[in-house]
Amino acid sequence: MNILDIKKYPDSILKKKSLEVGEIDDNTKTLIGDMIETMEKAKGLGLAAPQVGVLKRIIIVRTEKEPLPFINPKILKMSREKEKKEEGCLSLPGLRLEIKRSKWVEVEAINENKEKVQISADGLVARIFQHEIDHLNGVLFVDRLSFFQRLKFKLGL
Ligand code: ZN
Repeated sequence: MNILDIKKYPDSILKKKSLEVGEIDDNTKTLIGDMIETMEKAKGLGLAAPQVGVLKRIIIVRTEKEPLPFINPKILKMSREKEKKEEGCLSLPGLRLEIKRSKWVEVEAINENKEKVQISADGLVARIFQHEIDHLNGVLFVDRLSFFQRLKFKLGL
């Protein structure tokens, strides 16, 4: 297993859209293993492939028990009810911001064994899914700031 280099803001790869994974081969499995190792070492709660320079729709999410990989994840449903909580990102180290996200989500993905899985998550895990899936679409948590938060952020307060 290798520790990968985590791309930091404003690296342009973080703004790009990732592509669906076609075949889950040995390279995919190696990448997933490396991503888990990299996330654990950085003490992150989630990691998306573009953060290690790979534009593929793969995320790692620290669930209650362990970090798990999700391939081609899609949000099927998300609660209309939202909550605002502090969040960080390994690509913007040291920055903690309050971001409004849905309280729960239902996600469909493929696991490492090429099986289709459906997960319901709430609270922190739901937040991680939303944050990581955003990365696959080139969206960073700073892009989710409200107008007033953005104003404060630009002023450096
Ligand atoms: Zn992030």
